[in-house]
Amino acid sequence: MSDPTTAAGSDVRNVVIIGSGPAGYSAAIYAARAMMEPIVVQGLQPGGQLTITTDVENYPGFADVVQGPWLMEQMQKQAEHVGTRMMWDTIVDVDVSNGSPFTATGDSGDEYVADVLVIATGAQAKWLGGPGEMELGGKGVSACATCDGFFYRGKKVAVIGGGNTAVEEALYLTNHSDDVTLIHRRDELRAEKILQERLLNHPKISVIWNKAVESFEAGPTGALGHLKLRDTQTGEDSTLEVDGAFVAIGHAPATELFKGKLPMDEGGYLLTEAGSPKTEVPGVFAAGDVTDHVYRQAVTAAGMGCMAALDAERFIAGLEIDAGGHVHEAEAAE
Ligand code: FAD
Ligand code: NAP
Repeated sequence: MSDPTTAAGSDVRNVVIIGSGPAGYSAAIYAARAMMEPIVVQGLQPGGQLTITTDVENYPGFADVVQGPWLMEQMQKQAEHVGTRMMWDTIVDVDVSNGSPFTATGDSGDEYVADVLVIATGAQAKWLGGPGEMELGGKGVSACATCDGFFYRGKKVAVIGGGNTAVEEALYLTNHSDDVTLIHRRDELRAEKILQERLLNHPKISVIWNKAVESFEAGPTGALGHLKLRDTQTGEDSTLEVDGAFVAIGHAPATELFKGKLPMDEGGYLLTEAGSPKTEVPGVFAAGDVTDHVYRQAVTAAGMGCMAALDAERFIAGLEIDAGGHVHEAEAAE
């Protein structure tokens, strides 16, 4: 086990957690309570994706709606109270090639050396980049129907995109809205056929083909009022009045750093053993949206962070858990 002393510019730890979203903070809370003295390297978005949203009402434990930034502040404080050290740094390089201990280098120039690395760098929704999109974020524009759909009960909403995510978001939104429009830039969906069928036969959903969203425009209340559209074939302009617009053109996991170092799928998500946060490299764990293109929720990310910390503890103790759930001595590395 490493000596947790700090030398100038080089911090040697049991556990280094890269990322400070729900996955990273939950891993930190468990690791700290197991006396592993974790460090969280927070990255450019301390608190993660929930810091860019407002109302969160599906994270268990709160009877009333809580604000995303507040929730993440609480998680950070909780992690600190039990003994986590926060580093305001961004990892720019990792070396996992020789097994544990691993080295992660920050853009500060500091090196973090750890027996265990927990990767919790999350994912970012892709945005269109048009005028009004960022300004109206949380005021009608969203990238997560599961998170924000509830706020559009009985209202008119649009989903932008033509892949599985867009179709699933549109179908999900029919639980809240009777007027859902899918806007796609081509005349053919990329989504799986079965999802397409459900979408096209749904009485609450209409599809606008061959249209690109040019801009998101505020209405009289300051919230989203309408979308400006451009026909991708004729160039003709039009508008669509909506209360909510969900951009669903894909997500990008923050895994650039791990290319060629850890296995990932074609979408760039880190691959782990089924039902576990273990990557191919013993002692390197991945948790949260960085490895999950299906659920992408704060509570699932937090759950995976917990799993990563519990596995980290076993790894450091020279133990491992097999597929049958039995804990035993780890096989010695070659
Ligand atoms: P993230 O929250 O993405 O955090 C990633 C962290 O990694 C960040 O702190 C970042 O700074 C850090 N990082 C990245 N690269 C590096 C690096 N190189 N070095 C160091 N650190 C790095 N989910 C819900 O359950 N309920 C909701 O209501 C809800 N609302 C949402 C609203 C919006 C607008 C969005 C975008 C998402 C919403 N989600 C919601 C989804 C939820 O936010 C994510 O599923 C969750 O945050 C994923 O957690 P994570 O810890 O895996 O990663
Ligand atoms: P995706 O398959 O890459 O689809 C993105 C969609 O957004 C495409 O239709 C694309 O249009 C459109 N798009 C991209 N950039 C755009 C832009 N700038 N302006 C307008 N439209 C734009 O992404 P995804 O739907 O998020 O799916 C990602 C992966 O996760 C896929 O492998 C998918 O199968 C998987 N997934 C699976 C499920 C499931 O199995 N239930 C659910 C969700 C996601 P074009 O078609 O014109 O390129």
